Amino acid sequence: MSEPPAARRLVVVGGGPSGLAAAWKASVEANRAGASLEIVVLEADNQVGGKARTEHAADLLIETGPQGFLDDQPVLREMIDACGLEDEVLAPEPAANRRYIYRGGRLRELSRSPLAFARSGLLGPLGLARLAMEPLVRSRYHGDTDGGAGEDESLYDFAARRMGRQAARRLISPVVLGIFAGDARKLSAAAAFPRLVAMERAYGSLFKAMRAGRRRGAPPPGHRTFPRGIQSLPRAVAALPGIEVRCNQRVTGVGRSGNGFTVTTPAGDLAADAVVVAADLPAAADLVEGVSAAAAEELRQVESPPMAVVHTAFDAAATAHIEPAYGFLVARGEGIRMLGCQYETATFRGRGPDGTFLARSLFGGSVDPEAAELDDDGLIDLTRRELRRTVGIGAEPTYASVARWPHAIPQYAPGHPQRVARIEAALDPIAGFHLAGNALHGVGLSRAIAVGSNCGEQAARLLFR
Ligand SMILES: Cc1cc2nc3c(=O)[nH]c(=O)nc-3n(C[C@H](O)[C@H](O)[C@H](O)COP(=O)(O)OP(=O)(O)OC[C@H]3O[C@@H](n4cnc5c(N)ncnc54)[C@H](O)[C@@H]3O)c2cc1C
Repeated sequence: MSEPPAARRLVVVGGGPSGLAAAWKASVEANRAGASLEIVVLEADNQVGGKARTEHAADLLIETGPQGFLDDQPVLREMIDACGLEDEVLAPEPAANRRYIYRGGRLRELSRSPLAFARSGLLGPLGLARLAMEPLVRSRYHGDTDGGAGEDESLYDFAARRMGRQAARRLISPVVLGIFAGDARKLSAAAAFPRLVAMERAYGSLFKAMRAGRRRGAPPPGHRTFPRGIQSLPRAVAALPGIEVRCNQRVTGVGRSGNGFTVTTPAGDLAADAVVVAADLPAAADLVEGVSAAAAEELRQVESPPMAVVHTAFDAAATAHIEPAYGFLVARGEGIRMLGCQYETATFRGRGPDGTFLARSLFGGSVDPEAAELDDDGLIDLTRRELRRTVGIGAEPTYASVARWPHAIPQYAPGHPQRVARIEAALDPIAGFHLAGNALHGVGLSRAIAVGSNCGEQAARLLFR
């Protein structure tokens, strides 16, 4: 009788959402192929989840990283189903449809109703008139026969060209703070907001594309989480059979060895037939160095500045005047360092006891990295002062905490698509090596999961073809 073939081994470096998605998808593919695959996830921290980290304190549910995810990737739903969490997906409260921008010394609603929007004062008459002309602005892709976009442009330039400079400054720039904690002038339109660019390409106009979407009855993707917090998902994936997670294992190197790889940890070397690197920047660049110096050098050019997330809770009496809403973003130039504030208890059920108001204020990013370096007392004090100024909370918080991310969100600078192409060209010839995470193809959780799943699928298919 012949020996059964030895199991192949896939090592995933990083137990964040992207790495765990890679592990899950690889196990699905191995099962489909009826093949035996040992899947080992090595995580530097003492728990899985990466930045998807939920903490509990003083009867509050604290999301120190992402507070929700966009339900825009079919594969994410597949993974949720595989974990048996499909009935636990939590949609926001209706009040969370209301969002504000702090500009000109007060909150102004970012309303979907054209009349209410016009009255909000977010744009002046000239800015409104220019915005209304958007469908008439000639598309950059008009007469473009090769489908190419020419030079990449910044998000600010894209918005100014389509919607006018006032809208770019007063609307798009604050919104970008909420997603990238970044500067619209220093982000690539094509990489940071590919959907907007695709809308112009397909319809010649953003308004026309939105109208077409409404006619098709296509609802925009929803914002979701779980009753016990966002970390429920990585924890559930890590508990799936066939995936071995080893925490407290910081990988210090990945190198090629024969037809496979050697993964180095303080506990010793591990041989692997395939590797998925799903560590965040800058660690990912150091690990890629072992297989491609050129790709590592390119990755090091992608900045990921620090952020701090400050949670403060208040009694109902101190916040009764605040309209329930998702929260607000702050336009730059207002003398406020907070990038924005999310009203956690108004957005998702179960974030705190009835009557409590839990605010999550964001600081740092590429526009003000120094703010993220303030000490805890300094950040809490700044939060108190700025919440008083923006939303009139005069009371002392009943709870306050600070979470820090030294390398929070990758910034996709203009030229990012070309950088991605160079990195992929350098890594593609290295069979069995895959780069997951959110450094290249979208910074949000759902994209990181889609990219991770794709890497896991490719890794398994290559092993079992
Ligand atoms: C403050 C903040 C708010 C955010 N809000 C949202 C939001 O509301 N919605 C949204 O969609 N996205 C949000 N994001 C982005 C979201 O957190 C990321 O998309 C997501 O975490 C990316 O997952 P990942 O697995 O690629 O990386 P990470 O979550 O960073 O996980 C990487 C993992 O790799 C591990 N690791 C690193 N180096 C090594 C090593 N050498 N060896 C072993 N393990 C290693 C790390 O410990 C970590 O566990 C937010 C991010 C931040 C910082």
